[in-house]
Amino acid sequence: MVTNRQQLIGDKEVNVYWMRRDLRLHDNAALYHALRSPEPVLVFFIFDRFILERLSDTRDKRVNFIHDTLAEINRQLHRQGSSLVVLHDFPLPAFEQLVTRYNIKNVFFNRDYEPYALERDAAVEEFLQSRQIGWNSFKDQVIFEKSEVMKPDGSPYTVFTPYSKKWKEKFMQTELPAYSTEEFFSGFAGNPFQKIPALEKLGFEEVEVKIPVLNISEEHIKGYNQNRNFPAVEGTSNVSVPLRFGTISIRELVSHAYNLDEQWLNEFIWREFFMMILYHFPQVVTENFRRKYDRIKWRNNEEEFDLWCKGETGYAMVDAGMRQLNETGCMHNRVRMITAGFLTKHLLIDWRWGEAYFAEKLLDYELSSNNGNWQWAAGTGCDAAPYFRIFNPVTQLKKFDPQLDYVKKWIPGYREGYLEPIVEHKFARERALEVYKRSLAEL
Ligand code: FAD
Repeated sequence: MVTNRQQLIGDKEVNVYWMRRDLRLHDNAALYHALRSPEPVLVFFIFDRFILERLSDTRDKRVNFIHDTLAEINRQLHRQGSSLVVLHDFPLPAFEQLVTRYNIKNVFFNRDYEPYALERDAAVEEFLQSRQIGWNSFKDQVIFEKSEVMKPDGSPYTVFTPYSKKWKEKFMQTELPAYSTEEFFSGFAGNPFQKIPALEKLGFEEVEVKIPVLNISEEHIKGYNQNRNFPAVEGTSNVSVPLRFGTISIRELVSHAYNLDEQWLNEFIWREFFMMILYHFPQVVTENFRRKYDRIKWRNNEEEFDLWCKGETGYAMVDAGMRQLNETGCMHNRVRMITAGFLTKHLLIDWRWGEAYFAEKLLDYELSSNNGNWQWAAGTGCDAAPYFRIFNPVTQLKKFDPQLDYVKKWIPGYREGYLEPIVEHKFARERALEVYKRSLAEL
């Protein structure tokens, strides 16, 4: 239904809510504030060519997921007499176009903390300022951002446990805001319906995307601690993809976790811990957090890397995990730890290679979590597994997939000895210990 305020936009001033990785209309901080402003609100999305042109696969499932989600949001807006405005461009030229089409008073957006996003937003802000357009940013993606959880001396935490303790203390003293956007939906600008550019126009193909089903019922989460390490069991919540793209609100999830299970709550705190680390130490994108590991002489054998990528190492748990990743874009956390440990310790391949491969494939790919966890697995990270902790992939299999259900699902016809292991465990373990020890001794 079109209300009085939603007259078609001509020269009328509008406010723009710039949607990025917060693909939802409910419980959304920036949208809420935009809708409460006096001007009608246009929802704007940019298919950023800087990001899209770096994706190597035209069948990228994440682009499909974003496209599908935007189409659904556009239907919701249509019901309010409005429409998404979508451009396919680099951010600055996209805004240059937008200001020629609309008389914009303010831009509202939710903050993003990755190095590229910070640079992008600074450039757009400068442009908008030069046009006297207001620029209003909000916290939405996290409970605590930037420097909100710091050590008593004001420096950032680099160890998880004290960080999480402080995080919880602060959480207890904080009342989470509820952004009831629905109450203000009449504030959307009455905008003629516009279609989202077709995937082909963006340079991508349409593919089927299967997003794991959410397991967040009270009953499920009660079993979280007991089940979370077994990849054959639906033991974890599967919220990582919705969280990555913001189709779900972190405030809703964390309130739920706080009431139900502390271990699950801790996982969300790990997410914020790695986001905080990336924000304060952006060099981790390319460098070891612990510089003393710069001396590790990675073997970087390309054939072995290729076998790891294909899931043909001869270690069933590693291979099943990599095949699951290649087929679905998902991998269970326990198996991510095993495959990452195998690449960095058994094969002595630079964690950056594995990180890049995961970044290409994971549906829930998140720079901060991926980087933080890869550095954790390699022993080079802030609060990392000690270098001498080397998972035995055979023992891990016995412990976490005792019935071989997971392995048989991803390696059809699996039987022991199905492939000759590319490296013997004991030999690889000793080699890794030697290389890591030597790199530290050379200091
Ligand atoms: P649950 O166990 O139900 O946890 C709930 C949420 O907590 C997750 O969705 C996630 O947001 C957060 N979380 C859980 N574990 C971690 C963790 N170790 N670090 C940071 N946040 C965590 N997670 C990503 O979201 N994106 C990535 O790119 C990513 N890369 C990883 C790479 C490696 C090598 C490893 C070992 C882990 C990686 N993780 C990553 C963390 C973790 O594996 C996934 O978050 C988890 O498997 C998602 O499933 P879930 O939603 O069912 O998790």
